[in-house]
Amino acid sequence: MKKHNFSAGPCILPRVAIENAAAAVLDLNGIGLSLIEISHRTKDFEAVIDEATNLFRELLQIPDNYKILWLGGGASMQFCMVPFNLLNKKAGYANTGVWAKKAMKEAKIFGEVVEVASSEDKNNTYIPKGYTIPTDLDYFHITTNNTIFGTEYQTDIDCPVNLVADMSSDILSRPVDVSKYALIYGGAQKNMGPAGVTFVIVREDILGKVERAIPTMLDYRTHIKEGSMFNTPPVFPIFVVKETLKWLKSIGGVPAINKINVAKAKLLYDEIERNSCFASPVAVEDRSLMNIPFIYSEKCKDTDPALFLDFAKSKGMVGLKGHRLVGGFRASTYNALPMESVQALVECMQEFEKSVCKC
Ligand SMILES: *Cc1c(COP(=O)(O)O)cnc(C)c1O
Repeated sequence: MKKHNFSAGPCILPRVAIENAAAAVLDLNGIGLSLIEISHRTKDFEAVIDEATNLFRELLQIPDNYKILWLGGGASMQFCMVPFNLLNKKAGYANTGVWAKKAMKEAKIFGEVVEVASSEDKNNTYIPKGYTIPTDLDYFHITTNNTIFGTEYQTDIDCPVNLVADMSSDILSRPVDVSKYALIYGGAQKNMGPAGVTFVIVREDILGKVERAIPTMLDYRTHIKEGSMFNTPPVFPIFVVKETLKWLKSIGGVPAINKINVAKAKLLYDEIERNSCFASPVAVEDRSLMNIPFIYSEKCKDTDPALFLDFAKSKGMVGLKGHRLVGGFRASTYNALPMESVQALVECMQEFEKSVCKC
């Protein structure tokens, strides 16, 4: 049976990227050696990392005064690396859910942390607005897409201080004005590649301003200086990133995928609104293009979530279980998820309403 992969992360990748990665593991470019058994300091691998970097710069239109880094440790490592490198006295954070909170927790180790805005009062079902960002902050940190709660900033915000963004789950899903940010980071495993590599886009002039000593591996300047090759970079994930970016370019880049993402999300949100069995917990104006949580409607609220999950599973749908903090269901509609999968989910929801749900 054809599978429809709605997993939140790691998640669906373009099939062609997986096939090309599989081929490179067996034999890279016909050199008679595997991608994963050659030195990262060979011409063959240098071509891989350079192509990944160049494609990323081109697709997201990253200006020349920003460096692109490929690191280990996941987005979670950036929760501490950002304040280690940037927090002198005081940083501001928007608390929009689990990941934002984890980032704040690490920053508190390095200095004063101000919660400039929060959506906790309504279980993080919206993006805070209308707040003032203090101008005495070393930086202000946002999570542009809240993977668990399904909220997303719809535009790049104006910020009077250095803006730092965790874009783990919406990178390359929509056009971004990189020049509005001082630093952008994320784990690759949601829209760019497999787990194991983290991207950092950093404007170089913000570095070197803190007093403390920074361990070599946690200092962005080390990785800038060494071209992400201070130590052995995650070679296999970087290869898959390169292939994923090649695929994205081949279908028209970020503007093209954004159109498709908007169409996919609209199809699903419209069905959630129409279907008497389901409802969206998220404020209409803040709904994510990438992670779409839905719950049973008031009339069906006593129905066992397993009823829909098992029915969906019988139709080949995987990864639809909602996060425990939201409950219900969550469909992640990342770049590589085809429109047909969303159509299949919508049909499944319609059939559930008509003939499976008894409420
Ligand atoms: C998944 C996720 C993380 C954690 O990423 P790791 O690479 O597993 O550390 C952080 N922030 C957001 C927004 C995420 O979706």
